[in-house]
Amino acid sequence: MTAQPPITQDLLTLPRKVEEGAKRNLVGLTRDQMRDALIAMGTPEKQAKMRVGQVWAWIYQRGVRDFADMTNLSKAYRALLDEHFTIAVPEVVRREVSTDGTRKYLLRIAGGHEVEAVYIPEESRGTLCISSQVGCTLTCSFCHTGTQRLVRNLTPGEIVGQVMVVRDDLGEWPEPGRNPHDETRLLSNIVLMGMGEPLYNFDNVRDAMKIVMDGEGISLSRRRITLSTSGVVPEIARCAEEIGCLMAVSFHATTDAVRDRLVPINKRWNIATLLDALRDYPRLSNSERITFEYVMLKDVNDSDEDARRLVKLIEGIPAKINLIPFNPWPGAPYDRSSNNRIRAFADIVYKAGYASPIRTPRGEDIMAACGQLKSETQRERKTKRQIEDEIRP
Ligand code: SAH
Ligand code: SF4
Repeated sequence: MTAQPPITQDLLTLPRKVEEGAKRNLVGLTRDQMRDALIAMGTPEKQAKMRVGQVWAWIYQRGVRDFADMTNLSKAYRALLDEHFTIAVPEVVRREVSTDGTRKYLLRIAGGHEVEAVYIPEESRGTLCISSQVGCTLTCSFCHTGTQRLVRNLTPGEIVGQVMVVRDDLGEWPEPGRNPHDETRLLSNIVLMGMGEPLYNFDNVRDAMKIVMDGEGISLSRRRITLSTSGVVPEIARCAEEIGCLMAVSFHATTDAVRDRLVPINKRWNIATLLDALRDYPRLSNSERITFEYVMLKDVNDSDEDARRLVKLIEGIPAKINLIPFNPWPGAPYDRSSNNRIRAFADIVYKAGYASPIRTPRGEDIMAACGQLKSETQRERKTKRQIEDEIRP
């Protein structure tokens, strides 16, 4: 018997389903873009708004993937749609389920690239952690994704598509008549904390989140979406203005010397500059606090002195400090702080008046915890043109 080739090599040579033919993918188009596309296909302008509403609801409210199932459209119109368009989402290549119920999905997108998404069920909510890029241009020294260079940005369709395939897997497209605003959903929250720096793919992330928030579709409240950034200062205000979601910041250090090492983007925008941008965040309030993420690294950033410096730095910013025990990966140059150390740190932050939850690592047995995501996609850098060809709808 011949040995199986490694799964990823195999995948890279498979046909590129999404690129086949000249059909354009409707998933990820804004309402305006869909309207233009339907008009270009021959829909009379006067009907275009209504048709967008119908098609939109089938795709995003009901999860339909086949035009033939859009039963409130005439047969002829359905056939026309099928001739011109597809409803394509990333392909689930592998799904792993942790002993704690966390599900990690390996997804294949156009060009044979791979990204990961992680679903974390909790008692009162279910959170989906989605990716915004294949790899990351940044090189945070404690992050597994940071060791994989950027391959490309995800398109809006590939970002919203992660939500759609996980809804498929959870069997969560509503029955006709069910209220889509139902807050008892299995997938109730989204965090942009997977692979990549979302603010370096701002427009696509924004367009995707607008689709996710659209009341006639997936319909998740902006308050149920949290975007995490390593600190791309010039884009922070736009996030409040153009998406309106909650903000999390990968802070991780209390001096520039240490943050430079952990989160190298700090050399471009240092702690003081970042904090100024956060103080000015247009949506800042007690009910919409900023989450400061702080990874606990043994003997690097976890002293009492760090905790005291941290609360001093963020004084006046409505904030919650999320302490993340470091999640190891093969070859990582750090160790996780001890539980006692993390508790002592949390205590100082808490006594200063800030919520300081310690994040329970989820899905560790399947390498699904924060910062452990890294796909095997390691292709040569392509030209801009080659990448554009790959993702052209
Ligand atoms: N690029 C964005 C979002 C993705 S990372 C950002 O950096 O904010 C999501 C969170 O996981 C960030 O706070 C990140 O710093 C943290 N993280 C990365 N690697 C980690 C690791 N090995 N252990 C614990 N947290 C990690
Ligand atoms: Fe990129 Fe975020 Fe990882 Fe840093 S922590 S390398 S910004 S994914």
